[in-house]
Amino acid sequence: MIREISCGDVKDAVRGAILRAVAILPDDIRRGIRDARASESNPLSQELLDILISNYEISQKHNVPLCQDTGALCVYIRIGQDVHITGGDVSVALDEAVREAYEGGYLRKSVCSPLDRLNTRDNTPAFIDWEVVPGNKLQLLIVPKGGGCENMSRGSILKVSDGMEGVRNYVLQCVRDAASAPCPPYVLGVGIGGNMESCARLSKKALYRDICAPNPDPALAEMENDLKDSINAMGIGVAGSGGDITCMRVNVETHFTHITSLPVAVSFGCNSLRKVEVTL
Ligand code: SF4
Repeated sequence: MIREISCGDVKDAVRGAILRAVAILPDDIRRGIRDARASESNPLSQELLDILISNYEISQKHNVPLCQDTGALCVYIRIGQDVHITGGDVSVALDEAVREAYEGGYLRKSVCSPLDRLNTRDNTPAFIDWEVVPGNKLQLLIVPKGGGCENMSRGSILKVSDGMEGVRNYVLQCVRDAASAPCPPYVLGVGIGGNMESCARLSKKALYRDICAPNPDPALAEMENDLKDSINAMGIGVAGSGGDITCMRVNVETHFTHITSLPVAVSFGCNSLRKVEVTL
């Protein structure tokens, strides 16, 4: 049965989610940082991890942003095929939510045109990704995405003969190139398969999966752990401090691909990996 959801309800939900997301670090990322602190042996890295823990506690207590970079606002929408959105254009409603949250919340506005670099001054437009799913619910994943980690994301289409080893080498080379720029300890989302654009989306899907939930496929779960161990063995560490922990977690997602292709994409999520999910 068709269910109606108004643009006004979408706008209010997204505005509230943005204001929560910028100040409250998700539970899985907190756990990742605490686990990193528990396993870290380098004194400087330990101190930096303690500062990150204090930072997220202060942010939540005083309702202030976790980081000065409050991100470009991404909205990943899973819309039930039995949902009818009423009362206007939902893209306009999402932009209005961004405008109200960033202006009302005194958050940094970080969105500009790509070549002349003119700031839009209200952090619009939202970056929107749509997926149609069965059902009559509207699920919205709200992500204020920092630029430092996004800038290090990469993608390529490898030769099929490169195989699993080629994927592994590509991911590790992306990490070597990124060094400490994505603000470690970070999460890595790896997409394998699809085509050029869907592989990039897969890597984002991987990035925002709960970091306490390994891939249900045992071979991919092993790949995730192997990549994480190999990254941490590089000794980059928090803020490039040379410690044991650079990467909290690698999540891998795969999809079918063309017989001539082996696409791979890597997305970085920094120590302020912010995400809030709301369902209407
Ligand atoms: S990458 Fe993340 S932690 Fe680093 S400056 Fe940007 S938002 Fe902040």
